[in-house]
Amino acid sequence: MLVNAKEMLLKARKERYAVGHFNINNLEWTKAVLLTAEENKSPVILGVSEGAGKYMGGYKTIVGMVNGMIEELNITVPVALHLDHGSYEGAKKCIDAGFSSVMFDGSHYDIDENIEKTKEIIAYAKAKNISVEAEVGSIGGEEDGVVGAGEIADPKECQQIAELGVNILAAGIGNIHGKYPDNWKGLDFTALAAIQGSTGGMPLVLHGGTGIPEEMIKEAISLGVAKINVNTECQWAFADATRKYIEDGKDKEGKGFDPRKLLSPGFEAIKATVKAKMELFGSVNKA
Ligand SMILES: [Zn+2]
Repeated sequence: MLVNAKEMLLKARKERYAVGHFNINNLEWTKAVLLTAEENKSPVILGVSEGAGKYMGGYKTIVGMVNGMIEELNITVPVALHLDHGSYEGAKKCIDAGFSSVMFDGSHYDIDENIEKTKEIIAYAKAKNISVEAEVGSIGGEEDGVVGAGEIADPKECQQIAELGVNILAAGIGNIHGKYPDNWKGLDFTALAAIQGSTGGMPLVLHGGTGIPEEMIKEAISLGVAKINVNTECQWAFADATRKYIEDGKDKEGKGFDPRKLLSPGFEAIKATVKAKMELFGSVNKA
């Protein structure tokens, strides 16, 4: 059964580990993440961007697929199905479709409009026991056409948003989506500590988890990060494994062109990547 992300993240913050949020793109992705979570007895969050939602045939299609897999693959660990970087309309649609958690990303509005819209989404979500993630201070890089500059969030603004009753807060601390530039200055831990202080110990989210050095990930977890978003790394792993299969000519041997064979190395590569992240984040055996 799907659960909201509130309890699993409060537990993670208290016990100082982080739950991985893995973006899904299709059936193989979803199955790989769910099976890896079960094998490692780790709670997990399946992330769906609005673009991926469209790609997979709509939010209801995804809810049906995920619920079906949880039942038929005997997944017993806590699983949250979460809208990633949702718009105001997108968040409402996902709540109606059966998601158990939504992110409303109002970081591109000014703070007053962000507060107003976040409040409305919270009211709509609370009625259905759905957790809400909000964002303050845009996260750098490009995700589904949304380009952020990578600001450092203002702890006071974080406090204002946290007090609305959000369950999870994404705050920019120098993190970006996609590949980090060579001259990247690293995460701003002073800002992170200030944000954790001003938000009363709310579980914080680290977006753009791909490419952040392991020591920084661990320090961020020690300072209150309880959810870490991983997207690009699984995509690289899938693409590399699939390319190798085709370049080795495996699709031309026997029935190697069968999609169940063709997509299998990529599926295994996602599983290995997810497992490594769960170990790094400390969520193994925490379900
Ligand atoms: Zn993000």
